[in-house]
Amino acid sequence: MVIGVLALQGSFNEHIAALRRIGVKGSEIRKPEQLECLNALIIPGGESTTMAKLAEYHNLFPALREFVRAGKPVWGTCAGLIFLANKAVGQKSGGQELIGGLDCVVHRNFFGSQLMDKHMDCCFILQLQSFEIELSVPKLADNEGGTDICRGVFIRAPGILEAGPDVEVLADCPVPSDNAGPVIPGGEDQEDKIFFQDRVIVAVRQGNLLGTAFHPELTSDTRWHSFFLKMVKETDEKTLQCISTSERPMENFHEKKPYDLPIFE
Ligand code: GLN
Repeated sequence: MVIGVLALQGSFNEHIAALRRIGVKGSEIRKPEQLECLNALIIPGGESTTMAKLAEYHNLFPALREFVRAGKPVWGTCAGLIFLANKAVGQKSGGQELIGGLDCVVHRNFFGSQLMDKHMDCCFILQLQSFEIELSVPKLADNEGGTDICRGVFIRAPGILEAGPDVEVLADCPVPSDNAGPVIPGGEDQEDKIFFQDRVIVAVRQGNLLGTAFHPELTSDTRWHSFFLKMVKETDEKTLQCISTSERPMENFHEKKPYDLPIFE
Protein backbone atom coordinates (compact mmCIF):
# COMPACT_ATOMS: atom_id res chain seq x y z
CA MET A 1 0.00 0.00 0.00
CA VAL A 2 1.46 3.31 -1.06
CA ILE A 3 -0.24 6.55 -0.28
CA GLY A 4 1.01 9.60 -2.10
CA VAL A 5 1.36 12.90 -0.32
CA LEU A 6 1.45 15.98 -2.51
CA ALA A 7 4.81 17.47 -1.58
CA LEU A 8 4.85 20.88 -3.19
CA GLN A 9 4.58 22.85 0.02
CA GLY A 10 3.13 22.61 3.52
CA SER A 11 2.81 19.76 6.02
CA PHE A 12 3.61 16.79 3.78
CA ASN A 13 6.40 15.48 6.05
CA GLU A 14 4.01 15.43 8.98
CA HIS A 15 1.51 13.32 6.99
CA ILE A 16 4.25 10.92 5.93
CA ALA A 17 5.29 10.59 9.59
CA ALA A 18 1.67 9.96 10.64
CA LEU A 19 1.28 7.28 7.93
CA ARG A 20 4.50 5.68 9.14
CA ARG A 21 3.02 5.47 12.63
CA ILE A 22 0.24 3.27 11.25
CA GLY A 23 2.69 1.23 9.16
CA VAL A 24 1.96 2.71 5.75
CA LYS A 25 4.33 4.11 3.17
CA GLY A 26 3.90 7.73 2.25
CA SER A 27 5.41 8.78 -1.02
CA GLU A 28 6.26 12.38 -1.88
CA ILE A 29 4.47 13.38 -5.08
CA ARG A 30 5.60 16.30 -7.23
CA LYS A 31 5.05 15.17 -10.82
CA PRO A 32 1.91 14.13 -12.73
CA GLU A 33 3.37 10.75 -13.73
CA GLN A 34 3.96 9.87 -10.07
CA LEU A 35 0.20 9.77 -9.55
CA GLU A 36 -0.22 6.85 -11.94
CA CYS A 37 0.87 4.14 -9.52
CA LEU A 38 -0.79 5.40 -6.39
CA ASN A 39 -3.58 3.89 -4.33
CA ALA A 40 -4.53 7.21 -2.84
CA LEU A 41 -3.39 10.76 -2.27
CA ILE A 42 -3.22 13.17 0.63
CA ILE A 43 -3.11 16.88 -0.13
CA PRO A 44 -1.62 18.57 2.92
CA GLY A 45 -2.22 21.91 4.54
CA GLY A 46 -0.07 24.84 3.66
CA GLU A 47 -0.94 27.91 1.67
CA SER A 48 -3.41 27.10 -1.05
CA THR A 49 -2.51 29.95 -3.41
CA THR A 50 1.17 29.06 -3.33
CA MET A 51 0.37 25.38 -3.68
CA ALA A 52 -1.90 26.10 -6.64
CA LYS A 53 0.82 28.10 -8.36
CA LEU A 54 3.32 25.27 -7.85
CA ALA A 55 0.79 22.69 -9.04
CA GLU A 56 0.19 24.77 -12.14
CA TYR A 57 3.92 25.13 -12.73
CA HIS A 58 4.34 21.34 -12.55
CA ASN A 59 1.27 20.81 -14.76
CA LEU A 60 -0.36 18.74 -12.04
CA PHE A 61 -3.97 19.89 -12.28
CA PRO A 62 -5.12 17.67 -15.18
CA ALA A 63 -3.62 14.56 -13.53
CA LEU A 64 -5.03 15.50 -10.11
CA ARG A 65 -8.50 16.00 -11.60
CA GLU A 66 -8.25 12.67 -13.41
CA PHE A 67 -7.17 11.00 -10.15
CA VAL A 68 -10.28 12.32 -8.39
CA ARG A 69 -12.53 11.53 -11.36
CA ALA A 70 -11.22 7.94 -11.45
CA GLY A 71 -12.59 7.46 -7.94
CA LYS A 72 -9.26 7.12 -6.18
CA PRO A 73 -9.36 8.21 -2.55
CA VAL A 74 -8.08 11.72 -1.89
CA TRP A 75 -7.88 13.42 1.49
CA GLY A 76 -7.42 17.16 1.63
CA THR A 77 -6.40 18.75 4.92
CA CYS A 78 -6.81 22.49 5.31
CA ALA A 79 -5.33 24.00 2.12
CA GLY A 80 -5.86 20.52 0.61
CA LEU A 81 -9.56 20.77 1.47
CA ILE A 82 -9.70 24.09 -0.38
CA PHE A 83 -8.11 22.37 -3.39
CA LEU A 84 -10.78 19.66 -3.41
CA ALA A 85 -13.79 21.97 -3.09
CA ASN A 86 -15.93 22.71 -6.11
CA LYS A 87 -15.99 26.33 -5.04
CA ALA A 88 -13.85 28.50 -2.78
CA VAL A 89 -14.64 32.01 -1.65
CA GLY A 90 -12.29 34.46 0.01
CA GLN A 91 -9.58 33.87 -2.54
CA LYS A 92 -6.94 36.37 -3.46
CA SER A 93 -7.89 38.62 -6.38
CA GLY A 94 -7.89 36.62 -9.58
CA GLY A 95 -8.78 33.46 -7.69
CA GLN A 96 -6.84 30.24 -7.83
CA GLU A 97 -7.21 26.95 -9.63
CA LEU A 98 -8.98 24.15 -7.76
CA ILE A 99 -9.09 20.42 -8.36
CA GLY A 100 -12.74 20.23 -7.41
CA GLY A 101 -14.90 17.15 -6.98
CA LEU A 102 -16.06 17.83 -3.44
CA ASP A 103 -19.54 19.33 -3.57
CA CYS A 104 -18.81 22.06 -1.06
CA VAL A 105 -18.37 25.80 -0.86
CA VAL A 106 -15.31 26.51 1.24
CA HIS A 107 -14.29 29.82 2.75
CA ARG A 108 -10.55 29.87 2.27
CA ASN A 109 -9.73 31.80 5.44
CA PHE A 110 -12.82 31.27 7.54
CA PHE A 111 -10.78 31.37 10.75
CA GLY A 112 -8.14 33.70 9.40
CA SER A 113 -7.90 37.44 9.71
CA GLN A 114 -6.67 39.30 6.68
CA LEU A 115 -8.68 42.23 7.97
CA MET A 116 -9.81 44.58 5.24
CA ASP A 117 -6.86 43.64 3.09
CA LYS A 118 -7.31 45.65 -0.08
CA HIS A 119 -5.73 42.85 -2.09
CA MET A 120 -8.42 40.41 -1.05
CA ASP A 121 -11.89 39.99 -2.45
CA CYS A 122 -13.33 39.99 1.03
CA CYS A 123 -12.72 41.11 4.55
CA PHE A 124 -13.15 39.29 7.82
CA ILE A 125 -14.35 40.04 11.26
CA LEU A 126 -13.37 36.64 12.55
CA GLN A 127 -10.08 36.89 14.39
CA LEU A 128 -9.30 33.44 15.63
CA GLN A 129 -6.55 32.61 13.16
CA SER A 130 -5.01 29.56 14.84
CA PHE A 131 -6.32 27.57 17.77
CA GLU A 132 -6.99 24.11 19.12
CA ILE A 133 -10.39 22.78 20.07
CA GLU A 134 -12.00 19.46 20.94
CA LEU A 135 -14.27 18.29 18.16
CA SER A 136 -17.11 15.84 18.48
CA VAL A 137 -16.44 13.01 16.00
CA PRO A 138 -18.92 10.17 16.63
CA LYS A 139 -18.51 8.69 13.15
CA LEU A 140 -14.73 8.55 13.53
CA ALA A 141 -15.11 6.86 16.91
CA ASP A 142 -17.63 4.36 15.46
CA ASN A 143 -15.16 3.41 12.76
CA GLU A 144 -11.83 3.67 14.52
CA GLY A 145 -12.68 3.23 18.19
CA GLY A 146 -11.55 5.51 20.98
CA THR A 147 -13.38 8.51 22.33
CA ASP A 148 -15.85 10.47 20.25
CA ILE A 149 -13.72 13.57 20.72
CA CYS A 150 -10.64 14.49 18.71
CA ARG A 151 -8.30 17.43 19.00
CA GLY A 152 -8.67 19.82 16.11
CA VAL A 153 -5.59 21.89 15.35
CA PHE A 154 -6.70 24.83 13.21
CA ILE A 155 -4.09 26.98 11.48
CA ARG A 156 -5.68 29.91 9.65
CA ALA A 157 -8.12 27.29 8.56
CA PRO A 158 -10.90 27.22 6.00
CA GLY A 159 -14.51 26.49 6.90
CA ILE A 160 -17.12 24.67 4.84
CA LEU A 161 -20.00 27.07 4.27
CA GLU A 162 -22.21 24.77 2.21
CA ALA A 163 -22.20 21.02 1.64
CA GLY A 164 -24.15 19.21 -1.09
CA PRO A 165 -26.64 16.37 -0.49
CA ASP A 166 -24.06 13.62 -1.08
CA VAL A 167 -21.63 15.08 1.42
CA GLU A 168 -21.52 13.46 4.85
CA VAL A 169 -20.64 15.87 7.64
CA LEU A 170 -18.13 14.26 10.01
CA ALA A 171 -17.46 17.24 12.29
CA ASP A 172 -18.44 20.80 12.84
CA CYS A 173 -16.95 23.43 15.05
CA PRO A 174 -18.54 26.16 17.15
CA VAL A 175 -17.88 29.73 16.10
CA PRO A 176 -17.63 31.82 19.27
CA SER A 177 -20.55 34.24 19.54
CA ASP A 178 -18.24 37.24 19.86
CA ASN A 179 -16.72 36.21 16.55
CA ALA A 180 -19.44 36.30 13.95
CA GLY A 181 -18.78 34.63 10.63
CA PRO A 182 -16.74 36.23 7.90
CA VAL A 183 -18.30 39.08 5.98
CA ILE A 184 -18.14 38.65 2.25
CA PRO A 185 -19.09 42.02 0.85
CA GLY A 186 -19.73 40.79 -2.65
CA GLY A 187 -18.24 41.86 -5.90
CA GLU A 188 -18.42 41.06 -9.56
CA ASP A 189 -18.05 37.34 -9.04
CA GLN A 190 -18.72 36.89 -5.33
CA GLU A 191 -22.20 36.42 -4.01
CA ASP A 192 -23.30 39.14 -1.72
CA LYS A 193 -23.51 37.08 1.40
CA ILE A 194 -23.01 37.71 5.05
CA PHE A 195 -22.51 34.61 7.13
CA PHE A 196 -23.46 34.77 10.76
CA GLN A 197 -23.39 31.21 11.87
CA ASP A 198 -22.68 29.69 15.23
CA ARG A 199 -21.23 26.45 13.84
CA VAL A 200 -19.21 25.72 10.77
CA ILE A 201 -18.55 22.36 9.08
CA VAL A 202 -14.91 21.27 9.38
CA ALA A 203 -14.79 17.61 8.26
CA VAL A 204 -16.66 15.88 5.44
CA ARG A 205 -16.66 12.77 3.31
CA GLN A 206 -18.13 12.40 -0.15
CA GLY A 207 -17.45 8.95 -1.61
CA ASN A 208 -13.73 8.76 -2.34
CA LEU A 209 -13.07 12.24 -1.00
CA LEU A 210 -12.28 13.22 2.57
CA GLY A 211 -11.80 16.80 3.69
CA THR A 212 -10.71 18.19 7.04
CA ALA A 213 -10.20 21.89 7.78
CA PHE A 214 -7.87 21.03 10.66
CA HIS A 215 -4.56 19.15 10.92
CA PRO A 216 -4.79 15.59 12.32
CA GLU A 217 -1.19 15.00 11.20
CA LEU A 218 -0.02 17.37 13.94
CA THR A 219 -1.48 15.26 16.73
CA SER A 220 -0.70 11.80 18.04
CA ASP A 221 -4.24 10.65 17.22
CA THR A 222 -3.84 8.61 14.03
CA ARG A 223 -7.53 7.75 13.68
CA TRP A 224 -8.12 10.12 10.75
CA HIS A 225 -5.23 8.47 8.92
CA SER A 226 -6.58 5.00 9.65
CA PHE A 227 -10.07 6.17 8.65
CA PHE A 228 -8.63 7.28 5.31
CA LEU A 229 -6.74 4.00 5.02
CA LYS A 230 -10.06 2.14 5.31
CA MET A 231 -11.47 4.29 2.51
CA VAL A 232 -8.45 3.27 0.45
CA LYS A 233 -8.96 -0.41 1.24
CA GLU A 234 -12.63 -0.12 0.28
CA THR A 235 -11.64 1.01 -3.21
CA ASP A 236 -8.53 -1.16 -3.40
CA GLU A 237 -10.01 -3.89 -5.59
CA LYS A 238 -10.95 -1.37 -8.20
CA THR A 239 -7.59 0.33 -8.09
CA LEU A 240 -4.68 -0.67 -10.26
CA GLN A 241 -1.85 -1.81 -8.04
CA CYS A 242 1.43 -0.83 -9.63
CA ILE A 243 3.55 -1.02 -6.55
CA SER A 244 3.51 -4.20 -4.52
CA THR A 245 2.55 -4.12 -0.88
CA SER A 246 5.26 -4.86 1.61
CA GLU A 247 5.28 -6.63 4.95
CA ARG A 248 7.93 -4.22 6.15
CA PRO A 249 6.72 -0.88 4.83
CA MET A 250 9.62 1.37 5.65
CA GLU A 251 12.46 -0.76 4.30
CA ASN A 252 14.24 0.60 1.26
CA PHE A 253 11.50 3.05 0.61
CA HIS A 254 12.92 6.40 1.53
CA GLU A 255 16.46 7.16 0.59
CA LYS A 256 16.40 9.63 3.42
CA LYS A 257 16.67 8.21 6.89
CA PRO A 258 13.16 8.12 8.35
CA TYR A 259 12.70 10.46 11.24
CA ASP A 260 9.83 11.23 13.48
CA LEU A 261 8.44 14.68 13.94
CA PRO A 262 7.37 16.28 17.17
CA ILE A 263 3.65 15.91 17.70
CA PHE A 264 1.18 17.00 20.32
CA GLU A 265 0.44 14.27 22.84
N1 GLN B 1 -6.19 29.30 4.74
C1 GLN B 1 -5.02 28.73 4.17
C2 GLN B 1 -5.03 28.87 2.66
O1 GLN B 1 -5.70 29.62 2.10
C3 GLN B 1 -4.87 27.28 4.52
C4 GLN B 1 -4.19 27.17 5.85
C5 GLN B 1 -3.63 25.81 6.15
O2 GLN B 1 -3.54 24.94 5.28
N2 GLN B 1 -3.17 25.64 7.36
O3 GLN B 1 -4.30 28.27 2.01
